[in-house]
Amino acid sequence: MTEEIKKETRGFQSEVKQLLDLVIHSLYSNKEVFLRELISNASDAADKLRFAALSSDGLYEQEPDLKIEVDFSESQGSITVRDNGIGMSYDEVVENLGTIAKSGTKEFFNALTGDAQTDAQLIGQFGVGFYSAFIVAERVTVRTRKAGLPEDEGVLWESDGKGEYAIQRLAKKLRGTEVVLHLRDEEKKLANNYTLRGLIRKYSDHIGLPIEMPKEGEDVVGYETVNTATALWTRAKKDISGDEYNEFYNHIAHDFEPPLTWTHNKVEGKLEYTTLLFIPKHAPFDMWDREAKHGVKLYVRRVFIMDDAEQLLPRYLRFVRGIVDSNDLPLNVSREILQHDKAIETIRTASAKRILSKLEDLAANSVEDYRVVWKEFGRVLKEGIIEDIANKERIAKLMRFTTTHDETNETVSLADYLSRMPEQQKHIYYVVAENLGTAASSPHLEIFREKEIEVVLLADPVDEWMVPHLEEFEGKAFKSITKGDLELGELGKEDSSESPPPEEFEALTKRIKETLDDKVKDVRTTRRLTNSPACLIADENDMGMNMQRILQAAGQDMPSTKPILEINASHPIVMKLAEQDTDEQFADWVQILFDQAVLSEGGKLENPAAFVQRLNQMFLQFSS
Ligand code: ADP
Ligand code: MG
Repeated sequence: MTEEIKKETRGFQSEVKQLLDLVIHSLYSNKEVFLRELISNASDAADKLRFAALSSDGLYEQEPDLKIEVDFSESQGSITVRDNGIGMSYDEVVENLGTIAKSGTKEFFNALTGDAQTDAQLIGQFGVGFYSAFIVAERVTVRTRKAGLPEDEGVLWESDGKGEYAIQRLAKKLRGTEVVLHLRDEEKKLANNYTLRGLIRKYSDHIGLPIEMPKEGEDVVGYETVNTATALWTRAKKDISGDEYNEFYNHIAHDFEPPLTWTHNKVEGKLEYTTLLFIPKHAPFDMWDREAKHGVKLYVRRVFIMDDAEQLLPRYLRFVRGIVDSNDLPLNVSREILQHDKAIETIRTASAKRILSKLEDLAANSVEDYRVVWKEFGRVLKEGIIEDIANKERIAKLMRFTTTHDETNETVSLADYLSRMPEQQKHIYYVVAENLGTAASSPHLEIFREKEIEVVLLADPVDEWMVPHLEEFEGKAFKSITKGDLELGELGKEDSSESPPPEEFEALTKRIKETLDDKVKDVRTTRRLTNSPACLIADENDMGMNMQRILQAAGQDMPSTKPILEINASHPIVMKLAEQDTDEQFADWVQILFDQAVLSEGGKLENPAAFVQRLNQMFLQFSS
């Protein structure tokens, strides 16, 4: 027994030290959040116990009324948050209060800037949780026992947040978890009934179980409930204020900022369920983490079942936060069952539609908010074109692009594009490159700029998949300007390129092709260029060059398809090319033309040093 009670001192995981440092120094202006976080944990613990007790109600230990108590001592300057929830075992305390298990933790720390204000925002997204106690406390003591374990298997944990914590067995009889904050001198004023009640009402009123505080008044004993204590989503919409929705969002999303908007629906009839879904103002820090679980919380008849229920929304809406409470699912529903459940399917379809309606509403009525949505979630929404065939058209209308009409912002919708295009135009022209800068300066755009035909500029990796899935918009097919033949015909303004190149060019293109040999599929004169001497294109049915690069970067093995080199017959360099006397010189010029065509569309040279050498030689030739 004495052996077991032995005290151990351990160091925090280095990420925790970093986080603690940040929490204490950059969250100072947000210090009230500590109470919200601790109450949120207590509420989670009650949810977990209720769920575990579904299969073994002995876990309640004759105390089935779950609640949270907030206590304080003015004289000692301490605050206590107590719950009779699931509790923690020794190992769980070490794991939960000494490390950060969240996926994406590394990425989060990499994203930190050192600027207190920016970082405070980031921490808000990351969720500080338990460690926020150290914003106001110089020492934190936790007493806990995991439900179901023997009475003497409690745990005592204590730390000043400076790098180490002490942990030992606790023989005292205990149910659930008790967190005691020994406040810093300057925060001791928080330890009073009035302030704490205010904070609870402000941040935690929506918590679905009673939060109790000592009754007020001299010689009065006992506790009373200080929050509304009904799950927010069960209340009538008209009775819930915007602030209450915001607080609830902060609670479930671990976000400091209010959401952009929400949709709250009660569905009655054959299937009965409630959804409360929020669109955040910014992307969650782990939106691109493949390992991260995304989804909303699932409740069954008010009982919490699981976090991140991925089946409740399609993947491309993974930035949405919220809850679904179903009356029809069994309480013992598992993730496996969710995958094949008809009711879940219906809920997912309806929820996706609700979010799309919300987005449409924002796009139509609050352009500025929608700009935020697109900036933060656009790349994810584009996945919907591939994932959600039924809603493809709706999503297509929600997309925004940078085009040659407005090269500074992603504000052009496909409908805008269509509205500007000449009647005879059959295609929506686009170019994809590694980034917008490369796309915008692509030589392939030259003829389009001259003719003033609008081109959509794309630079997200997902675009390469999205466009072929989208295929067309309102009858106009998408056409890459870097692929196949270009038949602009009478479209747009008149230009110079349509005049056929002189006969002798046949011979020249043939000679270039022989020189480049197996590097190209073909060499031909172009109609795309006005300023550049040459460009590369992909054959109509071949994979585009940008796509090839993306797949190669992802480690995919594939036969590389050869490009077609198009040369500009009216360009002075090309004209000069025909005048080169030696084969060697001709070959050098051709190689330079080819290499610069590779570079200007964002490609990598096979042999950059050789390119530089040839270029230098040419400088010397012209300067001598
Ligand atoms: P989060 O709540 O986002 O998981 P926290 O830092 O708030 O992160 O808490 C870390 C973990 O510590 C929780 O996931 C939970 O397992 C455990 N924990 C914290 N407080 C309690 C509590 N009152 N009862 C039981 N477990 C708790
Ligand atoms: Mg928490």
